[in-house]
Amino acid sequence: MLQQSSLHRVFVICLVAGLSLTGAHADRLPHAVLIVDQSGPGVTIFNQIAQAFRSNLNVQADPALTIYHEKLDLNVFADPGYLRLLENFVHEKYRDRAIGVMVALGAKGLQWAISLRERRGAEIPIVFAAISNQAVQFSELPSNITGRTTEQSFEDYVKVARALVPQMKQLALVGDPLEGQGFRRHMKREIPSATRGLELNDITGLPVRTVKERVANLPADSAIVYTAIYVDGDGKVITPKEGLEIITQTANRPIVVDVESYIGLGATGGIMMRPEIVGRETADLVTRVFDEDSAAHIPVSVSNAMQPVFSWPELRRWGVDERRLPPGSDIRFRSPDMWERYRWQVALFMAAFLLQSFLILAFLYEDRRRRVAEAESLQLRSELLHLDRVATAGEMSASIAHEIRQPLAAIVAFGTAGLRWLTRSEPDLPEARKALRTIVDEGHRAGQVIENVRAMFRRNVEPRTAIDVRVLIRKTLALIPGDIKKNNIVVALELDEAGPLQIYGNEVQLRQVMVNLITNAIDAMKTVADRPRVLRIRAQPANPGAILIVVEDSGPGIDPTNMGKLFDSFFSTKPNGMGLGLSICKSIVEAHDGRLTAASAGQYGAIFRIVLPSIERAVT
Ligand code: ADP
Repeated sequence: MLQQSSLHRVFVICLVAGLSLTGAHADRLPHAVLIVDQSGPGVTIFNQIAQAFRSNLNVQADPALTIYHEKLDLNVFADPGYLRLLENFVHEKYRDRAIGVMVALGAKGLQWAISLRERRGAEIPIVFAAISNQAVQFSELPSNITGRTTEQSFEDYVKVARALVPQMKQLALVGDPLEGQGFRRHMKREIPSATRGLELNDITGLPVRTVKERVANLPADSAIVYTAIYVDGDGKVITPKEGLEIITQTANRPIVVDVESYIGLGATGGIMMRPEIVGRETADLVTRVFDEDSAAHIPVSVSNAMQPVFSWPELRRWGVDERRLPPGSDIRFRSPDMWERYRWQVALFMAAFLLQSFLILAFLYEDRRRRVAEAESLQLRSELLHLDRVATAGEMSASIAHEIRQPLAAIVAFGTAGLRWLTRSEPDLPEARKALRTIVDEGHRAGQVIENVRAMFRRNVEPRTAIDVRVLIRKTLALIPGDIKKNNIVVALELDEAGPLQIYGNEVQLRQVMVNLITNAIDAMKTVADRPRVLRIRAQPANPGAILIVVEDSGPGIDPTNMGKLFDSFFSTKPNGMGLGLSICKSIVEAHDGRLTAASAGQYGAIFRIVLPSIERAVT
């Protein structure tokens, strides 16, 4: 605190000087600022204030101001003789420099600035900062001085310490003796009331090694307040930051501080002066002083720079519940949780996960749909197969009935003939035997027909043998002599006898084909009365490697409208026709790699052509 008598003296002198220099105010203040800074080079917070002040002032000033900065190190060097020399030195240094405004940092800085102003004999406006409202009797200050006070009290330490250690019983105070610290000098008075109910463990003014030991063994229900060590009990000069670093090495309890630059060095937190705010507020005030050419009409006000600041790692270390901290606390170095640290990665991962989940769901849905569709199609197929089986069975039984009619007819015919031979007055046994043999043969044929029709539906043309087409045709004709004769049919055989007409196939099936075609021809010619009924059967080699069999009649021919349906199953123009003969023929011929076609033969009649591979081609 400024000595009251000296303040009074200063006040009177300044008042006189102020009156005599009133005229000087009419001129604009010189564009230069001198910062009178009580701190030494190692005191970070004052450097930060000065820095913030410079950058804010230079933004506002037009034209730019010259800023001088004197760091006086008054906390470390306080010898009166030295202080006198220092004042002379600074005074001489700035003798010829016009100074518009002096900025005093700290209570000692203000005292010193007032003294320097007296020496210069000119009433330079002074703007102060970083001074506790308890440290100076502002009402007794000389004129033309303004500034903002920082509400710094011991009470704040206790408040914060209780938030950190709810059941606190003891408060350990570490640092230089408070009375020697300009900034905190006033706190000495506050201690008794602020620590009521608590045990104060005074560790101030001791050698750092002693402090180190003492802070290592504090009880669990205690907290530490660290102010600043400039000079330890051994007279060792250190910076306040170094002092803090030394005690944090061993301290076993949380440390309450009031300086922002201590945060991050092991201190837990406290209510502290924010240097950038102090710097900005001071720049604002200085700008206003330049505008008004005086500080006289600007009242001293309370700074907004005091704010609770804490260090997150220390809060964690001491298990402090954040909800107990003063409202609006600024918590520094919060190590981001997984979400904050890997926000993008997590977001990306979540997006990928969601996409993947969606794809999996879509896939499962599709898979389910596919399964349902498959089940439905399986059901449909089995229904179709069932229908097909029913149809095939019907078709097969119908075709068997059809094919078997020929041998049955032959059996009946030869049976009747046999009976006739036997019932004669003189039974003709050889003829009867021949008839019976034919019956047996036809019976076998009927059995084979059944077997072969089934085989045909299985696309089975086994067994295969070499067949001479000419023999096949003659044998077939021999089976149906009755029909031919009865219907007055003339058979014209044109069988090429020159070369081999051999094919490779199933004889029974191919004979059925021939029987069908010949029977159809006979049926067709039954109505013919105006012309000869001619059944022409031709066999000849066809190029290349094929054999052609032609069955031609002189019947009515094929109605062109029916031509396309001829080979369809169940297509028939006959009253009792089954419509299966030609379709079976086509199946058999094609199973032998051949072709069966129908056409009208010239003026009248129908012509059926069978082309089969010759034996040479069939077996290669
Ligand atoms: P269906 O047993 O009913 O005779 P096919 O398959 O043998 O059945 O013949 C089908 C139809 O083809 C016959 O109903 C007939 O209309 C016609 N068709 C077959 N051969 C001849 C032919 N030589 N002349 C005229 N039409 C024929």
